[in-house]
Amino acid sequence: MVKVRFAPSPTGFLHVGNVRTALVNWLFARRHGGHFLLRIDDTDPERSRQEYANAIMNDLEWLGLNWDGEAVWQSTRFDRYRRATEELKIQNRLYPCYETAEELDMQRKMLAGRGLPPIYNRAGLKLSDEQKKKYEAEGRRPHYRFLLNDEEVSWNDLIRGPAHFKATHMSDPVLLREDGVPVYTLASVVDDGEMHITHVVRGEDHVSNTAVQIQIYKALGFAVPEFAHMALLKTKEGELSKRLGGNDIRSLREASILPMAINSLLARIGTSKPVEPMDSLDELVRDFDFSAFGRAPAIFDPAELERLNTKLLHEMEYDEALLIMEDLAHFSDEAFWLSIRANIKTLAEARQWWDILHGDIQADLNHDDRAFARSTIASLPPEPWNETTYDTWIAAVKPATARKGKELFLPLRKALTGQEQGPELKKLLPLLGREKVMERLSA
Ligand code: GLU
Repeated sequence: MVKVRFAPSPTGFLHVGNVRTALVNWLFARRHGGHFLLRIDDTDPERSRQEYANAIMNDLEWLGLNWDGEAVWQSTRFDRYRRATEELKIQNRLYPCYETAEELDMQRKMLAGRGLPPIYNRAGLKLSDEQKKKYEAEGRRPHYRFLLNDEEVSWNDLIRGPAHFKATHMSDPVLLREDGVPVYTLASVVDDGEMHITHVVRGEDHVSNTAVQIQIYKALGFAVPEFAHMALLKTKEGELSKRLGGNDIRSLREASILPMAINSLLARIGTSKPVEPMDSLDELVRDFDFSAFGRAPAIFDPAELERLNTKLLHEMEYDEALLIMEDLAHFSDEAFWLSIRANIKTLAEARQWWDILHGDIQADLNHDDRAFARSTIASLPPEPWNETTYDTWIAAVKPATARKGKELFLPLRKALTGQEQGPELKKLLPLLGREKVMERLSA
């Protein structure tokens, strides 16, 4: 059975790039009747924050990306990682190193100066017991590196196709920090292995991690999962960043962007399939396929998101709108919703239209327009009013005025709504009612 995981580090809010990874994992799991796990990668105590983890879970729920079972926190699994490191030590695949960060940096600079790649020189491997004791007496604590074997690492990437890495071109990765904290590279393998993850689906920035992690899965006796590395999501300006903001889900939520607008875009962006507004995740599940993913970076364009959002709103039923914007029920009703939905860009604008219809408005009309607006009151049909009322009214107004076209409609719109644009007046008239229309025309 397919089992995948989304493994965010709680070091910031989810941005569209992270969500794309979550969504693609989720769609793949649902497509194959598999499991989608949520794993909070919080091994880094300095950068991980509970509030970010909470926000991540909250955002995933809001997007409809529910996970199976309880979320797993790496910080609760340190004993497992320790056991794995013991095992690797027994196999002589984990060795202590005593270089400080500055020393390593210096080494890398020297290699760069000679035009060589920054590969660790394995000095730690050659230390005698005496040298190690001497370092420890100096107060140095070891960090531990995984000894890569010389085998070529290869896998058949579900998106990138066959991938090959020469282990001799890579540094032995650090798996345990000087303070004894295991790093992500190890923790992730232990978790994937113990949780029987079948497919690791993540961003292309992890390709070189995959190369070393495959050797770690094997050393620990775990089945090596399949891999799919997605081309990164970028903006027209460049990289997405947790720090830059604006593309984080929080901001999009605050800007009243619909979850399905985000899902519709992120499921298809960077694939050969068209980006279309989709009402539900089910539709996206049905045609999910890794073979549609391209290798070029996908460009995230907020304008495209807005377009999808607008299209979804224009077709949305009142019940659906209520599910997304709870307080809509406190101030609106279905007739109102159906009248304004085609003229709003975000759900938040619904509130503005409610206030326009029910609150006080400022209409900016000149003297003539005001007189004209007032003159049309006599032609207002009696109630009950419906969507035909407007035409009846205008038919009665026309013979009595030389105005036509914009000259005729715009002052009426402005008098009734204070706006130059908006939903069709024939829809607004019954919502306003005769009394309010009279009041506004004479104001
Ligand atoms: N915590 C890692 C990240 O956010 C997870 C990568 C992975 O999926 O293995 O990049």
